[in-house]
Amino acid sequence: MAGAAPVHPAEAAPDEEAEEAGRLLFAKECDFVAGAATVDALPPDTLPEIAFAGRSNVGKSSLLNALTGRNALARVSHTPGRTQQLNFFDLGNRLMLVDMPGYGYAEAPKTEIKRWNELIRVYLRGRASLRRACLLIDARHGIKDTDRPLMKMLDETAVSFQVILTKVDKVSAGELTRRLDAVHEELRGHVAAHPVVHLTSAHKGFGIAALRAAMTALASPPEPR
Ligand code: GDP
Repeated sequence: MAGAAPVHPAEAAPDEEAEEAGRLLFAKECDFVAGAATVDALPPDTLPEIAFAGRSNVGKSSLLNALTGRNALARVSHTPGRTQQLNFFDLGNRLMLVDMPGYGYAEAPKTEIKRWNELIRVYLRGRASLRRACLLIDARHGIKDTDRPLMKMLDETAVSFQVILTKVDKVSAGELTRRLDAVHEELRGHVAAHPVVHLTSAHKGFGIAALRAAMTALASPPEPR
């Protein structure tokens, strides 16, 4: 199927069973576990993990809030002192959600960027429980130069990554199609890229159920009742 355009969730028929499983998981408690600014502070990797990364202002906090139906995650991650950390949240004791620091601020000091890169590289390389990294991309802007170093790092560390377009409510259908084509085209050059691109709007709730379902497939199985 080389070269065939993968179907993205908006085009696929919703899988009701998977979406219900996702709804149930994401309705569970989501507790802050740890904030790590250094490798030593990383919590034990006891649960399957999904990390969220993206440029500052891409809509990461809004998406995490929409997924979990809570403001708590964004509040923790936006607390002064925590914005440059990896913040870990335990979802229902089945999945760890990791909020990575937003990148791309031109004014960030060089030493800060270096420190961030080192922490991320060690984390990505050594984290056995990391099932996937979600790379959030603003649907209005597409993939930018500031995203490319992380994509390269994900290839190098062999961490499966998946692009999630955010704020799709802000673009026309035609623009979205063009943006999606460009993203798929670029992903073909990345060995670690997952072929499915999720389309989401945290504000309108679009694509959230499908994304929850996809993530739930990576979680630990529920405890038998
Ligand atoms: P973060 O810096 O990546 O955590 O981004 P935020 O979640 O704080 O969002 C940045 C800005 O984008 C805010 O003004 C949000 O209201 C806006 N935003 C986030 N998600 C959406 C969305 O789905 N649709 C629209 N129209 N705006 C959004």
